[in-house]
Amino acid sequence: MGYIEDVLNDVTRKTPAQPEFHQAVTEVFDSLRPVLDRNPKYQDNSILERLVVPDRIVVFRVGWIDDRGKYQINRGYRVQFNNAIGPYKGGLRFHPTVYMGLLKFLAFEQVFKNALTTLPMGGGKGGSDFDPKGKSDNEVMRFCQSLMTELHRYIGPNTDVPAGDIGVGAREIGFMFGQYKRLANEFTGTLTGKSFGWGGSLIRPEATGYGTTYFAQEMLATRDQTLEGKVCTVSGSGNVAQYLVERVTQFGGKCVTMSDSNGTIHDPDGIDAEKLQYVMQLKNVRRGRIRAYVEKYPTARYLDGQKPWGVPCDCAFPCATQNEVSAADAQILVKNGCLLVAEGANMPTEPGGVEVFLKNGILYGPGKAANAGGVAVSGLEMAQNSQHLTWTREEVDSRLRQIMHSIHTDARRTAAEYGAPDNYVMGANIAGFVKVADAMVDQGIV
Ligand code: NAP
Repeated sequence: MGYIEDVLNDVTRKTPAQPEFHQAVTEVFDSLRPVLDRNPKYQDNSILERLVVPDRIVVFRVGWIDDRGKYQINRGYRVQFNNAIGPYKGGLRFHPTVYMGLLKFLAFEQVFKNALTTLPMGGGKGGSDFDPKGKSDNEVMRFCQSLMTELHRYIGPNTDVPAGDIGVGAREIGFMFGQYKRLANEFTGTLTGKSFGWGGSLIRPEATGYGTTYFAQEMLATRDQTLEGKVCTVSGSGNVAQYLVERVTQFGGKCVTMSDSNGTIHDPDGIDAEKLQYVMQLKNVRRGRIRAYVEKYPTARYLDGQKPWGVPCDCAFPCATQNEVSAADAQILVKNGCLLVAEGANMPTEPGGVEVFLKNGILYGPGKAANAGGVAVSGLEMAQNSQHLTWTREEVDSRLRQIMHSIHTDARRTAAEYGAPDNYVMGANIAGFVKVADAMVDQGIV
């Protein structure tokens, strides 16, 4: 058996019952064969064996009191995966499905994504099985304070800088920052995604959705196309989906779907700026379900329990969660004439689906490249915090565009160097890997 297979077998044996982590490692390692063949130093330095073992994981109990005065218990986690090129950086996810294997997949992906951004950030991820849905603001605050009371021991502006993810938006970051500041007795940039008035960066809320849009534009440009007039399907209705719909619409695309974990709305007339405002109010303030959209806009229809991928489109943007596009969904997208898939979410396409996209010559932008705009602007937030400065919207947006352009160029050039010019999966994985692996070789066995 080869080097890659040996390491993959070892991972599966030593970390059982973590399927998402195995999936993420297999997907990255499968792309690395040519670079490992050309550079024996990586095997000589046991880079793959070292890359699959996180530097550190902390797991802790989070106790809090609900509004009825009852004691509640959740699990809290932080996976500090790799800090070869900078402090650990990656979001916190609050969702009932959170467990060790899920966070290890996300942290592992984050290592390569962060390397692609050109900024000095290592990879981490964390969160809790806490479900913010249906909780009052006070309950969310008590939970966030309790989580941070333990987490604050392991993070810091030069150690580990968490951000938001599913279930963690401006409200949760605010509560966690307040408690961190109180315990550390310091006002530092230890969390990103802060509100603008107290250390946040302009464009951070928009960054992942905008960045994915810019990445899609770059991919389309390689075929002399633009977003103008393209019919687009989008999954999710949270942070990433909202700002992706905003930007795609501004560039002349027509977004016809959004979804949540209960179902999808299909609006053939397009979700314009006014309708998007309604969705933002529904999701961010009233914290309601997407099905309410069709009551407000009756020409749209609600597809109960369905994902958006059966709706014909030119471009598809999965922006909800992992493994939300199966091989069968991918076949349907191809059959309906879809020409581009850009992932706002992390690992939303199952391996069989990725194979379908690559075989059919779809422009396929994997999450680790296409959605890196979020963490990139988090990196810019850290830079502004350490300089005690704030940059204008225009400045941050232009840096974001530049970073997405550079990720696209880097992934494409690397893929071409290894004989597969349109294969962004291979290009992104190899480009991210080489940066991290070279730093690990330079720094010796640690
Ligand atoms: P969010 O604001 O919490 O929104 C998540 C959306 O996805 C909601 O509409 C949610 O619906 C839906 N969703 C969650 N779990 C689902 C499931 N199991 N099945 C179907 N729908 C589901 O989160 P977000 O920040 O937009 O993150 C979305 C994705 O982007 C995640 O994969 C995240 O890791 C990735 N990402 C986020 C950022 C960032 O900056 N926020 C950066 C890079 C990547 P419900 O309301 O029904 O749960």
